[in-house]
Amino acid sequence: MNPLAQIVRATRPIYRKLSTSAPVAAAAKPIPTTGLCFELDDEQKALQDLARKFTREEIIPVAAQYDKSGEYPWPIVKKAWEVGLMNGHIPEHCGGLNMGVFEGCLVAEELAYGCTGIMTAMEASGLGQTPVIIAGNKEQQKKYLGRLIDEPIVAAYCVTEPGAGSDVAGAKTKAEKKGDEWILNGQKMWITNGGVANWYFVLARTNPDPKCPASKAFTGFIVEREWPGVIPGRKEQNMGQRASDTRGITFEDVRIPKENVLIGEGAGFKIAMGAFDKTRPPVASGATGLAQRALDEATKYSLERKTFGVPIAKHQAVAFMLADMATGVETARLAWMRAAWLVDHGKKNTVAASVAKLHASEVANKAATDAVQIFGGNGFNTAYPVEKLMRDAKIYQIYEGTSQIQRLIISREILTAAKESN
Ligand SMILES: Cc1cc2nc3c(=O)[nH]c(=O)nc-3n(C[C@H](O)[C@H](O)[C@H](O)COP(=O)(O)OP(=O)(O)OC[C@H]3O[C@@H](n4cnc5c(N)ncnc54)[C@H](O)[C@@H]3O)c2cc1C
Repeated sequence: MNPLAQIVRATRPIYRKLSTSAPVAAAAKPIPTTGLCFELDDEQKALQDLARKFTREEIIPVAAQYDKSGEYPWPIVKKAWEVGLMNGHIPEHCGGLNMGVFEGCLVAEELAYGCTGIMTAMEASGLGQTPVIIAGNKEQQKKYLGRLIDEPIVAAYCVTEPGAGSDVAGAKTKAEKKGDEWILNGQKMWITNGGVANWYFVLARTNPDPKCPASKAFTGFIVEREWPGVIPGRKEQNMGQRASDTRGITFEDVRIPKENVLIGEGAGFKIAMGAFDKTRPPVASGATGLAQRALDEATKYSLERKTFGVPIAKHQAVAFMLADMATGVETARLAWMRAAWLVDHGKKNTVAASVAKLHASEVANKAATDAVQIFGGNGFNTAYPVEKLMRDAKIYQIYEGTSQIQRLIISREILTAAKESN
């Protein structure tokens, strides 16, 4: 039994779970009857400690090296899998621990503190798995989620295309039904874990009628990497998070058995979008981890570096930057915690997830930029850790829905509510 499973088995009596047989709602935890509590329970504290120790021992010492080489961090992924820091949310009937989104976020924040490139490589597997967790039947879950428990392998989520990112409904990859199979053709782009995943969640258009609404025009499939016609492209050279593997993938006459359709024809768009309720909170917690690292590095440096005869922390302009960073970290953490808590308790969290993702990614970018400023010339140099934080932070404003798209989701909700109340 891996260390995480031991923690869970020891503390589960205080960590009640409902049945895992049906998607989202049935996996929800009971709503506590008492008021707000900002204290983690014993299992959560132990999980956080495990992830923190793993980050200090396994990630921080090699983060710069992976950033430089751009190699996929397989040794770390395998170690994380061994200690149980991967796949915690997989249902128990597939051999997983059925952990909540909240617990996944606790782990993600810790890992991101060490390196968000390595954390994204791990977290993207969770993104690929989420459609199968929320919409897969028992057989699909056992086969594909169970495989991730049995072996240290990863999954990926294939939705974006060269011509369609924010506008998912514009996706052109198509699947046509031929007998008991679907034939998949098209091109995806910017797929994290694209070259290393064992299987992918793929969204494809199955109704060619342009008048068909997106909610009915797309189908979600599980596609195996080794199937003929699945062709990952070259690894993209990105600004940051370089340990993460990002690629385009071409699908050429890929034959998908009907057993690999999620829910049914036309259900794909809702599955693909619904996954974000569970995956945006961990993205937000990752951004929070990066911001915390920026704050810690800048605080330490500001106490060591002297100008005009005093540590730079004594200059109010520097101290106030630290104060702003701390304020951002604190509020970003509270935002992901609430978004995760809501979805774990079966409550709608779409707006809370967008708020958390938007806020944490803005905080991460501001904190990383300010950390570079506090380091002065050293901040601009690869010998110090903060320039990497600044490069790594940018993607948080882009993937899993850009900051503009999060604002669109939040503002739509506010305006709809306002209209309804009139
Ligand atoms: C490193 C990396 C990893 C990724 N991983 C994955 C993955 O694993 N799986 C996956 O499917 N995708 C992945 N993506 C894709 C990512 O989600 C998209 O890049 C993102 O959604 C933006 O889409 P786009 O690049 O097509 O930009 P566009 O949609 O072309 O947007 C361009 C600009 O226009 C703005 N914009 C667009 N529409 C609107 C609007 N209606 N209102 C206001 N502003 C608007 C955007 O905010 C942006 O600033 C990844 C991307 C990167 C770079």
